[in-house]
Amino acid sequence: MSDEPNSAGDADEPRFRDRLRLEIPRAIFDAMIAHAERESPLECCGLLGAVRGAIDSIYPLRNEDQSRVRYTADRRDLISAVRAIRESRGDIGAIYHSHPSTAPIPSRVDLAENYYGDTPRIIVSLASGKAEVRAWRLGEGCFDEIALSVGEDGGSSSAVVESSSSM
Ligand SMILES: [Zn+2]
Repeated sequence: MSDEPNSAGDADEPRFRDRLRLEIPRAIFDAMIAHAERESPLECCGLLGAVRGAIDSIYPLRNEDQSRVRYTADRRDLISAVRAIRESRGDIGAIYHSHPSTAPIPSRVDLAENYYGDTPRIIVSLASGKAEVRAWRLGEGCFDEIALSVGEDGGSSSAVVESSSSM
């Protein structure tokens, strides 16, 4: 992952100084891609739950828009997912959606409709025929990439969302 400013970002906006790293257990990573492939050519969306910073659950949500280029999480799905995450004493660790036919880079709409602050965003692209997954943190008119790694089966079951500096 490069530290170079992303050319699509807005140079006038302050960029995030702290770098995030996001680790996703293999089974959850694969489930996210499977969800994207199932919904293609429409966009899919969902939440990843995290307990003490470790991603441990996935909640596929219906895309109310049923669109190839945008998504709005079904309200009831979203409420029940957030409730389940809270009940497991967790937090929303990341929000994912798919780009069935474009690169896994935040779109103008993704930036304009950023209702979740700096919660990590994962984009699963199917544009190249093979799933490509990248993670981002969105700011006002800018975005930074988050280093993404996939935990292997049989390894630790924990996954970490950590910041290199205190929040
Ligand atoms: Zn998008």
